[in-house]
Amino acid sequence: MSFEDIKGQDRAIRILRASLRSNRIFSSYLFVGPDGIGKFETAKNFAKAVNCSSEKNPTDACETCPSCKRINSRAHPDIFFVTPKGISSSIGIDEIRSVISKANLKPYEAKKKVFIIDNAHSMNNASSNAFLKTLEEAPKDTIFILISRSKELLLSTIVSRCHIIKFFTASPQELLNVLEEKFNVKKNEAKILNNFSSSRIGEAIRMKDRDLIKRKNRVIDSLLGIGESASDFSEEIANYNTRDEFKENLEFIISFFRDVFLYKTMSDENALFHADKIAEIKNECEKFTLENLDYLIKKVITLSSYIDYNVNPKIIVDVLTNELRSYYARGSTGKAARSR
Ligand SMILES: [Zn+2]
Repeated sequence: MSFEDIKGQDRAIRILRASLRSNRIFSSYLFVGPDGIGKFETAKNFAKAVNCSSEKNPTDACETCPSCKRINSRAHPDIFFVTPKGISSSIGIDEIRSVISKANLKPYEAKKKVFIIDNAHSMNNASSNAFLKTLEEAPKDTIFILISRSKELLLSTIVSRCHIIKFFTASPQELLNVLEEKFNVKKNEAKILNNFSSSRIGEAIRMKDRDLIKRKNRVIDSLLGIGESASDFSEEIANYNTRDEFKENLEFIISFFRDVFLYKTMSDENALFHADKIAEIKNECEKFTLENLDYLIKKVITLSSYIDYNVNPKIIVDVLTNELRSYYARGSTGKAARSR
């Protein structure tokens, strides 16, 4: 992936390319902006472009020289990636001490040694403080790139030592263009990926790679068939690999009921999340009152929040299945479902 391939971050990339062109490269950067929009790819690409041995384009990575290839496979001895081990873990002082001691050695073969510190806000106070002096007086031929979703999450003393590059979420239209033109995603599916990723390009691409739309439709189809088979529905909801996917399965249901609610109130197809389920959404409008939908949406949101509290997933699946089945059973008889 070269700078040309990173979409929606033209401003950030323009700044970085200008500094490559004029060879005015700072020693400490802070890439800041929402998750999943290309900060990490841009950092990796900057490391490649700085060290690329091809003369062809001084402001981008060639992708074919030994340096670019080694950085792509994360096997370059002078390019380091530091990242917290888990979502809630921090970048501890030992890791930062290791960064500092490596930074003080000369590069093996790179023009510039690069340290990419992802989720830099995961540095705790001790590691942040240990890092300050090195950030301020970075060793020669060393670049630190700190990445974070918000500069407010970092110590102000860290922020003030870095050259800040801001990354912005793409506009929905930009994201649709990228998905359709670059990844050959069909228009309807691009719309869905845009909706579920909140227009975050990296996230949308990861969702596409994980076949999110197929999974979503399996969940929605099983929901619509819950009157015939509650066990199919339970199976689909319980079909996940990670806790995030479990939450996503519930999110599919929440957003589907929201769509039904929205269509009942606005009759606007363009406002719907599930752009591939418009006929089904219209059909569901007949079955539910707005109060029913409001109740169901809140119910599924509550159950979804239990996932974070480590409630036994089987209980969540059973409660959800029973609740929805009873609504669908009443709805399909034509009587208004119970309202609360
Ligand atoms: Zn290269």
